[in-house]
Amino acid sequence: MTGRADIIIGLQWGDEGKGKVSHVLSKGADAVVRFQGGANAGHTVVVGGQRYKFNMLPAGCLVGAKPVVSAGCVLDPDAFERETKLLTQLGHAAKPLVSRACQIILPIHRELDKRLEEIRGGAAIGTTLRGIGPAYADKMLRAGVRAGDVMDEELLARKLQFLKQLHRVDVEVDAALLRERLLPYVGDAETYLNDVVASGGRVVLEGAQGVLLDIDHGTYPYVTSSNTVAAAGCVSSGIPLSRVGKIIGVIKAYTTRVGAGPFPSEVTGELGEWIREAGGEYGTTTGRPRRVGWLDIPALKYACMLNDVSEIAVTKLDVLDGLPKVKACVRYRVDGVESESFAESKHLLSRVEPVYDEFKGWSVGRDGWVEAVRKGWEELPSPVREYLGWLEKTLSVKISLASVGEENSMVVVRG
Ligand code: GDP
Repeated sequence: MTGRADIIIGLQWGDEGKGKVSHVLSKGADAVVRFQGGANAGHTVVVGGQRYKFNMLPAGCLVGAKPVVSAGCVLDPDAFERETKLLTQLGHAAKPLVSRACQIILPIHRELDKRLEEIRGGAAIGTTLRGIGPAYADKMLRAGVRAGDVMDEELLARKLQFLKQLHRVDVEVDAALLRERLLPYVGDAETYLNDVVASGGRVVLEGAQGVLLDIDHGTYPYVTSSNTVAAAGCVSSGIPLSRVGKIIGVIKAYTTRVGAGPFPSEVTGELGEWIREAGGEYGTTTGRPRRVGWLDIPALKYACMLNDVSEIAVTKLDVLDGLPKVKACVRYRVDGVESESFAESKHLLSRVEPVYDEFKGWSVGRDGWVEAVRKGWEELPSPVREYLGWLEKTLSVKISLASVGEENSMVVVRG
């Protein structure tokens, strides 16, 4: 009997609603894994009117699956402790497991992050200043402190001393506190996850950020400091590629982006403000207003290509409620020449002009959405079905889930 690992990733610039989708799809799973990034990602889940925010643990763990933080993450001990306590308060039996190979973010890294952005000045990346980039940099320098190092007091002290010397920063790290906080949770995550799958269980690999922020394949340098593509789920968790089941790509019905960087389908002015307010588009972690725009088809096709997604979940359809027209960027125009290729235009993104298709909008209202959830996919309002049908055809990927409200119950799953 063999099980499988399903991967959930964002196909845009993050904040697509992966937390909610993971919460829905982790039902019945044995383990759910956060596989990249640190406490920069903020996944929100709303259950029974209660809002839960996860920065470090995978949001899907709220349904009872064992939360795992795998090797490719950088662990923020403060956020980890906070969220672990929250799970205990909520009565969750499954204890989090942190891979021994996972890197630890230290106060030194936060200090370095601040300095880096200060030196960059006007060309700042707009990072969350949580020390994530510097922690990944230390990993690559083979100087990083890994979760497993807390098992050896002397080794930990030596490594901390080395880092202080290397970066010439005098930031104290409380090694005893670090040990106390992490020791109970550190273990062999790779063997655990492979055992789950080998014995017929199901694992959900929950991505953070989005494909367009991938360190290699995104809009560098305005990217996050890890790989966000689906393949990173296997690399980080140690689950082999052959065990991957579905790859579920999450997109919003429109697009948002936090921080600097090119955004061809950005909408500014009154309409942009309207969408931002309607969608509550303010960062979960930082409270920063998110930039908003229409769907970007060339970018989505690129994201689908890199991940071979098997299904798509579209979130926040309710946010566009009441707009007479909904648009999607279908091509780019650069210097008078049109292109449908994101990859081809990537180095020119800051000066591409979007070419739009227009669609009839919808006005469903809260009661209408509740009714749509009750009646199911075939009864979704016709302009919504037309928009989703067009999107599905354009991306050549089945749309299997439509999210139409913040509450976890507000989803329409396609039968
Ligand atoms: P993630 O990082 O991809 O998990 O996304 P975030 O949690 O940063 O942002 C998604 C936000 O949208 C959260 O506040 C969710 O509660 C909310 N959300 C998710 N799906 C929907 C939806 O279908 N409609 C509305 N109105 N809000 C949603």
